[in-house]
Amino acid sequence: MSTNIRILRICQHCGKEFEARTTVTKTCSDTCAKRAYKARQRAAKVEMSNQQTQQIKTQPIEDLKAQEFLTVDESAKLIRISRRSLYRLNERGELPFVKLNRRTVIRRSDIDLLFDRPAQLLEQSRPAPVLLSECYTMKEVMQRYGISEKALYELIKRNDIPKQYSGIYAYVPKTRIDELLSYTPIQS
Ligand SMILES: [Zn+2]
Repeated sequence: MSTNIRILRICQHCGKEFEARTTVTKTCSDTCAKRAYKARQRAAKVEMSNQQTQQIKTQPIEDLKAQEFLTVDESAKLIRISRRSLYRLNERGELPFVKLNRRTVIRRSDIDLLFDRPAQLLEQSRPAPVLLSECYTMKEVMQRYGISEKALYELIKRNDIPKQYSGIYAYVPKTRIDELLSYTPIQS
């Protein structure tokens, strides 16, 4: 009976069409079965390793969540913003800094409060865009101050300088760039 029935399947490993003995056979041969098994093992190992990496990466943040008082660096790390942005929140009166023995400490409960406010408020606190005439393009900054593109991008990132786009160009406010770079002697 069963010899009349031909079960055609596609090998899960090599993709070849083969005649299977049962409807659940997944591979065309023992070789492919072994290789498919090994590939699965490897994928499982990679997955395990990725999970461990993720755990190591998030562990410090988990530790920070458990603390009531944090330093500026720890707070910035916890909410994933730059130190500069954190100082701005403080300057705008949105996040109190507590001075303890000349050290700046931030209460976790105050950080939590930041996120309890309506989204609209956070939206409003974003800096208004600067007129393009008050901005440099990246190329202008590089030429004016003789710095490399890489150095410029790092500077922008480190100082949290707002970038805006128009067409294919990215613009940065002249005042911020000048204040940071005008003391650097221009290489000629
Ligand atoms: Zn095969």
